[in-house]
Amino acid sequence: MSILIYAESADGKFKKTAFELASYAKKIAGETGTTVTALTINGPEASALGAYGVDKVLNVKSDKLTAFNAKAYADAIKQAAQKESAKIILFSSTTDSLYIAPLVAVALEAGYASNVVALPESLSPFRVKRNAFSNKAFSFTEISTDVKVLAIGKNSFGLVESNGTAASEEFTPSLNDNDFYVKVESSEKVTGKVTIADAEVVVSGGRGLKGPENWNLIEDLAAALGAATACSKPVSDLGWRPHSEHVGQTGKPVAANLYIAVGISGAIQHIAGINSSKVKVVINADADAPFFKVADYGVVGDAFEIVPKLTEKLKLL
Ligand code: FAD
Repeated sequence: MSILIYAESADGKFKKTAFELASYAKKIAGETGTTVTALTINGPEASALGAYGVDKVLNVKSDKLTAFNAKAYADAIKQAAQKESAKIILFSSTTDSLYIAPLVAVALEAGYASNVVALPESLSPFRVKRNAFSNKAFSFTEISTDVKVLAIGKNSFGLVESNGTAASEEFTPSLNDNDFYVKVESSEKVTGKVTIADAEVVVSGGRGLKGPENWNLIEDLAAALGAATACSKPVSDLGWRPHSEHVGQTGKPVAANLYIAVGISGAIQHIAGINSSKVKVVINADADAPFFKVADYGVVGDAFEIVPKLTEKLKLL
């Protein structure tokens, strides 16, 4: 028996979520005396995963799988799970993985839980804690099937390095031609230098910035931090920024290590989308803005004075 993780990569590098999954799996493996196997699809050099507890990496190399294809990817992962007799299969809560995970669960007749935010409360019965209602509440789910599929929330479990090494093995799943009739081309609109989905740090602007002509404040601060840029819904509705940057309940979710909100009031629909971020900072002229209630750090003041000073200080570091 083993635990299988699907390790996503982009631009020749593993995503941080792959290391989070490896760390999460290693912890369960330690308690159950099992091993951790990772599956990569046209992924990079596998050794990096060993440093986070993966024992073995199955590499799928296939020209057919260069573009994301949920059905074919799910099929490959299902076959890897069967080969490894995996009882727990872990995905991250990325857009791609959230497409694949339920398909794998159905194919393996496995119980499935998404939005898992902590290690299992107990392994027998198998009980997991999940985010619910746009991250405003928790729920607990028991999975009674032999095989379990979980999608783990980003940033729910910190990276834990171990000094292991991972054995690497080519894996060639049999692919079904019927899964390739529809060709899906995936592209993420990149408006800053870093995409919102993968960003460790996000700098976000709201209506308090008064207009698109002032967005250099946000972009300069983001550049100094190597951050992605984002915005509130009205800002994208007004056409100041593209809709791909809108975060919140009706926009993109953000699970960054650091989320800096500039001139954003902190309406419940905005907070719902950024709640999973670890450290939240707000810069707002109004000390009564609701954002201060959820922020870890807050600066009351004029963004037009504070942000350029902050950016200059950061550039000196
Ligand atoms: P405002 O509410 O206008 O706030 C601007 C803030 O800037 C104020 O707090 C003000 O004090 C501050 N400010 C002004 N001048 C300065 C200055 N010089 N320096 C510093 N601070 C300053 N919103 C989202 O963001 N994401 C969503 O997904 C979303 N989904 C929604 C879904 C529904 C069904 C509904 C009804 C609403 C949704 N909204 C969403 C809108 C949400 O309710 C708020 O209206 C919106 O988030 C407010 O955006 P804002 O904070 O940029 O603007």
